[in-house]
Amino acid sequence: MRVRAIELVTPHLRMSRALRTAHRADPPVKRHRLLVHVVADEGDGWAECPVEAAPTYDADYSEAAELVLRRHLVPRAWAGPIGDADALEGHLASVRGHHPARAALLLAVLDAQLRAADRSLADWLGATASSVPAGAALSLHDDPDDLVAEATAALGAGAARLRVKVGPGRAALHLRALRDQLGDDVPLQADANGSFEEDDPELAALDELALTCIEQPLAPDDLLGHARLAGRIETPIGLDEPLTSVGAVEAALALAACEVVCLKPSRVGGWAAARRIHDLCVDRGVPLFVGGMQETAVGRAANLALAGLPGMTLPPDADPRPRFEQDLLDLPPAAEGRVPLPTGPGTGATPEPSRLVDAEVVRMEAP
Ligand code: MG
Repeated sequence: MRVRAIELVTPHLRMSRALRTAHRADPPVKRHRLLVHVVADEGDGWAECPVEAAPTYDADYSEAAELVLRRHLVPRAWAGPIGDADALEGHLASVRGHHPARAALLLAVLDAQLRAADRSLADWLGATASSVPAGAALSLHDDPDDLVAEATAALGAGAARLRVKVGPGRAALHLRALRDQLGDDVPLQADANGSFEEDDPELAALDELALTCIEQPLAPDDLLGHARLAGRIETPIGLDEPLTSVGAVEAALALAACEVVCLKPSRVGGWAAARRIHDLCVDRGVPLFVGGMQETAVGRAANLALAGLPGMTLPPDADPRPRFEQDLLDLPPAAEGRVPLPTGPGTGATPEPSRLVDAEVVRMEAP
């Protein structure tokens, strides 16, 4: 496959609902999303680099991702096996960090390859499911009644589990309100985005709520703190932010700091790396699920393919409610609590050209 050009495409979308977290009190209504578009002689490839506008969730953020793609990753790719995602992964390993940017470039190349071969990403990954449970992610709220209202709406839209953003001071109160309203049968998990101190007594109170897991209660790099906490409370401890590679997952498991893995393919540097982590978790008997980054339909389609792997024991972030007022394309909707995997070649998700008319495009031609 000969790659003729690589474009960085930045569409501007309006959120249909905000997702507030412990680290982001004022979520944006408008979002600039970064896409990588590979233009090849046998077809195109698309991928999303789902980073935030500011380095608050993670060190990676949109301007840095675009810069590292333009200055370092794409130039290296031109000088290497740019038409072969498998070989390109090793070639790009000389750039440290910047996993979301690298993952997007690798996936865009892979997507073009798979489309040329008329093969789906789900098939390439080894997915066995044709649909996955519709897992909703709920915003942090000031008032527990607002959380209950959002949960009721998500369940009404077909959500099969609720992953709730929480922060210190109200997590136990809010999740208790949710349990009391919804009963014990609704799968509930909490994501604190690293906002708690290890000795906060509220963490022990969360133990009474039959949560599937408490995700990232402590700071991302505090693996030993998570291990101590895991020894003190019954609820499984999940990790998200520090799980950036197979080695990082192995270290967290060896330290007993992680009992549930939130797997984000962009954070681990790509879909091949994500599949290796899936295989490791299956081998070790560790529950895992695919986490979302408020992707457009382009990124969501690729996440759904990964979520269809047989070792995904927990529901992924596949919210049945629309994220944007108008997404970049329309994926098949959730039905009966499940979201169908895309079926077309590659990721099965090509943005509608009419929805990219306002997007900024940086085009880099093959040298
Ligand atoms: Mg998380």
